[in-house]
Amino acid sequence: MWVCTKCNAVVATPVNGKCPRGHVLYDRFFPTKEMSFLSATLWAFGLCVAFCVLLVWSQRFPWVTDQFGQISEMALLGFAILSIMSFLRGLKWRRQRGAVARLAPRAFGTALGCALAVVAPLIINAFRGE
Ligand SMILES: [Zn+2]
Repeated sequence: MWVCTKCNAVVATPVNGKCPRGHVLYDRFFPTKEMSFLSATLWAFGLCVAFCVLLVWSQRFPWVTDQFGQISEMALLGFAILSIMSFLRGLKWRRQRGAVARLAPRAFGTALGCALAVVAPLIINAFRGE
């Protein structure tokens, strides 16, 4: 189910990715489509993991290898910021009530998925005794 965050209304049939009043059905990068908490968590975590895999793969380029430590720290920071932003957005949507409240579980799921992506490497490192 699509939701227009500007009209705070459910959009049954989007036209070219827009609501009937012409608002784009995107919130920054993410489509404002209803999603369950669990699938949003997995989706966000999967995206972060895919990004990390890409990052590790990109080590073959010399300019990445030199700054790999910095780049991966920035990536983790990025995930953390994304997580906090999604969480705050979820709170805001839930407080607003109406149709946008349907998007809150997705925002909280995204927040958890990104948070896991930040915490997982730390846990793995802890187990490896680094
Ligand atoms: Zn609208």
